[in-house]
Amino acid sequence: MMNDDRGEPPENKVEDYIRDRSDAQMYMRPRIPVAILGATGSVGQRLIQLLHKHPWFDLVAITASDKSAGKKYRDAATWMLATPIPEEAAKLTLLPTDAELPCKIVFSALTSSIAGPIETQFAERGCVVISCASAHRKSPNVPMIIPEVNMDQLEMVKAQGFPNGGMIVTKPNCNVIGLCLALRPLQLEFGLEAVDVVTMQSISGAGFPGVPSLSIIDNIIPSLPEEEEKVENETVKVLGCSFAISASCTRVPVTEGHLELVSVKLKQKATIDQVKRAFREFVPPVQEMQLPSSPREVIHYFEELDYPQPKLHRDFEKGMCVAIGGLRQCPLFDYKCTVLSHNTIRGAAGGAILTAELLVKKGFVFW
Ligand code: NAP
Repeated sequence: MMNDDRGEPPENKVEDYIRDRSDAQMYMRPRIPVAILGATGSVGQRLIQLLHKHPWFDLVAITASDKSAGKKYRDAATWMLATPIPEEAAKLTLLPTDAELPCKIVFSALTSSIAGPIETQFAERGCVVISCASAHRKSPNVPMIIPEVNMDQLEMVKAQGFPNGGMIVTKPNCNVIGLCLALRPLQLEFGLEAVDVVTMQSISGAGFPGVPSLSIIDNIIPSLPEEEEKVENETVKVLGCSFAISASCTRVPVTEGHLELVSVKLKQKATIDQVKRAFREFVPPVQEMQLPSSPREVIHYFEELDYPQPKLHRDFEKGMCVAIGGLRQCPLFDYKCTVLSHNTIRGAAGGAILTAELLVKKGFVFW
């Protein structure tokens, strides 16, 4: 662990050293050393791409499984992104995941089945772990953060009790991020009574190498039961209110971008113009902090009934916004619409980096 230049946090209590930092302070300090666990996978690659030239974070260490550890990143990773591997990452040697890493923030892009104890170990060493995996999401003290929706839930970390400012913060399931960003303005303006969502999830959502080509080309795989459970439970937890929700999740032959068909019943009656205005005028408090990865507009609203579409709109706002279109009356509920978000950017790597920026800005990261 890197030694902190201000010594130990007083009595190891997060609240003793939480303070907002000015932008000037942020840019004058040296960049914060960060690491990626599971750097070779779909999400790990996105993290490497998005951390390249990051103004606050300096990628110093990367890990992968035993089959890759010891190799240079450029030799071990099957790089799938359209930009070249950043040179500073390409030349790093992959470490085993139990290595001591010289960093303060750890981004976890590990397979969920093995992530739990590894992430706990890093938090015990005093690292701030920001996880894309589902392993810790059900713990009552571990928040699932979407900065534009529930940054107040960060307070939960104070009850985790890890030494030296260590903590685990997760982001919710990638479908939940798009869904909650779309539902949040409606929740605030009118209240939510019931939500029905059908997801059309891209292949990259299943990791690398992911779904066999013969299973997905010319096909749609209906029913992903684990995803359905996550969407139903996590959406309610993130929004922090109770409403009925049903999710039907499918895998479709699209490389990136999860499309969701959403029907919603509101607590308070609203006209279609009021619903449009709620989407268009949604400016969450985190927007004012001008974090480096914040999109200018977190909701991009389309009037077109046949928009958004993954191929056309997933990269809007560098993949960090949610696109909403196709708003119309619903004969069963009140309104229905189409929601699109980029699964490996907004739904994983970009969302995790934005959360890390928020933690730094709000003084949760002690370095
Ligand atoms: P992935 O492509 O399968 O990558 C998994 C990573 O974990 C690889 O770097 C792999 O290293 C490493 N790993 C696997 N087993 C390991 C072990 N026993 N010890 C150490 N490292 C190990 O998965 P992914 O799609 O990037 O997803 C990563 C996490 O993010 C998952 O928990 C997933 O649920 C979550 N997530 C994914 C998405 C998405 O759109 N893909 C969105 C949101 C959240 P090797 O290459 O050496 O095997």
